[in-house]
Amino acid sequence: MKELGISALDHLIDQLSQLPGIGRKTAQRLALFILKSEPEFATELAEAIVNLKQNTHLCKRCFNIAEDDLCAICKDTSRDIHKICVVEDIVDVMAIEETHTYHGLYHVLGGVISPLAGVSPDQLHIKELIRRVQDEPIDEVLLAINPSTEGETTIIYISEQLKPFNIKITRLASGIPIGSHLEYLDMATIGRAIQSRQEMK
Ligand SMILES: [Zn+2]
Repeated sequence: MKELGISALDHLIDQLSQLPGIGRKTAQRLALFILKSEPEFATELAEAIVNLKQNTHLCKRCFNIAEDDLCAICKDTSRDIHKICVVEDIVDVMAIEETHTYHGLYHVLGGVISPLAGVSPDQLHIKELIRRVQDEPIDEVLLAINPSTEGETTIIYISEQLKPFNIKITRLASGIPIGSHLEYLDMATIGRAIQSRQEMK
């Protein structure tokens, strides 16, 4: 698509088109919408983006998004502190929370083991997970990792690492199609997969 020669507009279109799912055409439409909007809207949008980056970081315990040292879930005293649900990404925490079927804690790995993509176990938050199982009163670790070849490798690796500890290791019930991501599944499917989770022997 042809640039318009207005550098401020072209710059915004360039930035927006780097967002996931936003093609050049959509970026152009969004930029023009912002251009035509009230000045307050544009200012608030820009401030919201800066504020998000400046005032959030990863939870020291579980690597979920947090505004303080610990995230809202880790700080919530009504949660079941004996269970950890292990997920790939923060978006999976959001997907599971929406189902209201799980009330324990989380641990965000930050990806899956992938030799092809050069991701080894020590690049993920696996060591921190093992430390939590050692230090916290955990009796179950639920491996809610997206079903894929890499996901399977990660599930097997973590379950091997957790074997020496006398805890229950579970995984999501089968029925989630291979290659699908929790964030794109409906709440009922995720809820069922959590409620009928299977123990790994
Ligand atoms: Zn946390």
